[in-house]
Amino acid sequence: MSRAKRIYMDHTAGRTVDPRVIEAMLPYMKSLCGNPSSVHSFGQEARQALEEARTKVAELINAESKESIFLTSGATESNNMAIKGVARRSRDHGRHIITSSIEHMSVLNPCKFLMTKGFKVTFLPVDQYGFVNLTSLEEELTNETILVSIMYANGEIGTIQPIKEISKMVHRKNVYLHVDAAAANGQVLIDVNNEDIDLLTISSNDMYGPKGVGALYIKKSTRLEPLIHGGGQERGLRSGTENLPSIVGFGKAAEIAKEEMPTESERLKTLRDRLIKGLLDPIPYSFLNGHPTKRLPNNAAVRYSFIEGESILLDLDMKGVAASSGSACTAKTLEPSHVLRAIGLKHEEAHGSLLFTLGRQNTEEEVGYVISIMPDIVKRLREMSPLTPKELMK
Ligand code: PMP
Repeated sequence: MSRAKRIYMDHTAGRTVDPRVIEAMLPYMKSLCGNPSSVHSFGQEARQALEEARTKVAELINAESKESIFLTSGATESNNMAIKGVARRSRDHGRHIITSSIEHMSVLNPCKFLMTKGFKVTFLPVDQYGFVNLTSLEEELTNETILVSIMYANGEIGTIQPIKEISKMVHRKNVYLHVDAAAANGQVLIDVNNEDIDLLTISSNDMYGPKGVGALYIKKSTRLEPLIHGGGQERGLRSGTENLPSIVGFGKAAEIAKEEMPTESERLKTLRDRLIKGLLDPIPYSFLNGHPTKRLPNNAAVRYSFIEGESILLDLDMKGVAASSGSACTAKTLEPSHVLRAIGLKHEEAHGSLLFTLGRQNTEEEVGYVISIMPDIVKRLREMSPLTPKELMK
């Protein structure tokens, strides 16, 4: 396959915007200029579009009403709003927060920031698949605990947490549960009512909506302080003139995701399982990262012994295939990903990791192509690696 025909399997890092979403957004950039706070008809038109989008986001997660959806600039802001907002509001009741060791940096870093402000944070361990240790969670919940923040699913290893079980445990102690669903929304059915979630982070770009917009679901009884003060938009919890074109796009993306998720997720699961099998079966010393079945439909995370994931990525790129090393190395350090370390991988195992994340445009044929080129890539790199045992190369 020539470079002209490129294959994109890095959907966790970035996605295209669905053409239907772009179509829905265009009028709000071209001609509809009203501000939802204005009283005239232009403003009312904008207000209606804003509330329709909010309703669509609420419907995606089965929220009790659109009033529990607060629009933000994306998952990072929503995570900050949930964690720091609850901490500020509840600081007189307690100063203990529990999270897991495999959260996204936009959860871990607000927690670390709060540690500098007198809060205690427990980072729960996870098992080899990335499941949060529920015994540790139960043991760590105290009268001082005000918030537990656990992600719905991890984008790097795909593992989906048992949120309902976690929420029962957390609520027995009357503690709020925040769930970061940025890696999961649009791919798996999330039901904040049934799963009894107090705060849920939702992102637009992870479901083919525009970047720079997202939401925090806040259950009616949940109290938090705003981080951004200003003109009082979003009922005082998140001021700033609403980014209407993006919000309309986000609503459309949520509507499409809800409609198409049942069929698209099944299609992706079939592709994912074929990809995983094809990446592992023909190649010795190859392993799956994360859980075999309780994983995101689009996530194929693997690792190969004796070689570097980064080198495999370069070879794949030469053949027109874009994948990722997860965040095996963060941009500024050569440290392996905290997620891969937390599931117990040694440095060299984490460095041999590779992440394929599938999306709407990927086909059977593309999966077939990736599977067909991988054995030779691994073989070539192993031949050059001083770590490869001699017997393997015979
Ligand atoms: N949480 C999770 C679980 C993520 O995977 C990401 C990245 N998509 C984020 C938060 C942050 O998202 P953003 O950079 O769009 O704010």
